Formats: sequence, C-alpha cells, structure tokens
Amino acid sequence: MKQLFRLARQFFLRRLIQQTTVDLHFDDDVMIIAPHPDDEVLGCGGLIAQASRKGVNVEVIILTGGGASHDNCCGISQEEVKRERRNLTKEALKTLGLNSNKITFLDWEDGKLPLSDHPDFDTRVDELAALLARLKPANIFCPHPFEGWSDHVAAQEITREAIKRSNVKTTFYYYCVWFWLSMPLRKSLMCDWKNAVALDISDVYVQKQKAIKEYMGPCAPCGNPWSGVLPEELMKAFEWEKELFFRVI
Ligand SMILES: [Zn+2]
Ligand SMILES: [Zn+2]
Repeated sequence: MKQLFRLARQFFLRRLIQQTTVDLHFDDDVMIIAPHPDDEVLGCGGLIAQASRKGVNVEVIILTGGGASHDNCCGISQEEVKRERRNLTKEALKTLGLNSNKITFLDWEDGKLPLSDHPDFDTRVDELAALLARLKPANIFCPHPFEGWSDHVAAQEITREAIKRSNVKTTFYYYCVWFWLSMPLRKSLMCDWKNAVALDISDVYVQKQKAIKEYMGPCAPCGNPWSGVLPEELMKAFEWEKELFFRVI
C-alpha cells in the first residue's frame, strides 16, 4: 500500500511538472554539488552527459565520502567503503563522459554535514567558497531544500552561503533526489513551480541508466551495494527521460 502511494505521488508530481515547465538550455560551465557519491548521477546524470557531449566544462564536487552507508549493516570499515565508492564515482562519471580530473572529493564526514546553526558551518562554507572562487562556474546545481535527508538539506545551505561569500556570478539550481520520495506532499504546493525546468534527457537516457548500474551493481562482501540499499520506489523516479531542476537566482 505504501509503495503504491509512493508511486502515485511520483505520477502526481510529474503531471504537475508537465503543466508548468520549460526546457533548460545551457552552454556555460556547470558545477554539480553532491552530498554523497551517487547523488550527482541520480539527480543530474542526464545533464552531465549532455553537457560533456556538447563540450561544456563540468565539475563535480562530492562533499562526503559516503563512508556511513554500511554502518547499520555489516560494519565494514568506513575507509574501505569510501575507497570503493570513490572508484565507482570515477567509473560512473566516465560513462557520462567526464574525466576524473573534473571530480573533487572533499571527504567531509558522511551523515554529519553541518546545518546553518552548527558551529562547523562557517568552516565548510569557507572551504566551498574558496573552490567556487577558483572555478567560477556559470551554473551551480545542489540538492533541493525539501529533500528531507539532513546531509542534502545541509549541502543546500552550505552551497547557498558559499555562493554569497565567494561573490561568483552564477545561475543557481536545485536538483531532486530524495525529493521524489521524502518530500511531504503538502510541501509540493510550496515548491517554486514557476521556476521549475524539466530537461529532456532522452538522447542520453541509456548512458544515465548505465551509470546508475555502475553505482548500484557492485556489492560489498555483505551482498548489499556499496551505496547501501536504496528504496525501489526511489530508484523508479530515475526511470524517467527527464530531469527536474528549480532555478533559484
Ligand atoms: Zn545522498
Ligand atoms: Zn554491509
């Protein structure tokens, strides 16, 4: 029953999108900020593949190593999980046309990204702001504030503040991962739908699916994927030939 409800809400949200969106066109540098290794492919895999194909410069910033994904599972060491997940990131992004020198691993602690009221928040903002000032991306993508998952919300707060502090001239977008599963439905009416953009990724859909498999296929010795087991209904959200973004500023 719960599964049916979750699939129905995806259907409802997609209908809402079709009513309100325009396509996204971009020719300038793109930066994707991912809280964990795999968010960039799930939320922006099509965007990355299309941008790479066009010769647009793409930078991917992975904030945490994703080391906690087996903490409540088999207890395999975080170092080992991080090492494997880092290799999977390089593999999956190669499939989308990106060289590993375009990926920055900041290796912040998984599950503990600081929200704006946390004492470590400023330090993290400064670190990211320094990176933004150096790379000067024309478009920045980070997770939607309604994602629900703490690291994703914190990634958004850190990115917003880092953009302000670095003074980069950029267009800022939210992308959607847990949004499809965890956003309370009443909040869907509070989303800024007039600035929603749906990117048609049908020409790179197969590439995106291959990259997702590269992340979710290989398993740790316990038999679960290195990223942990993600809910089936969440994965269904990415069987879609579009990607949803919200333009922020
Ligand atoms: Zn994540
Ligand atoms: Zn495990």
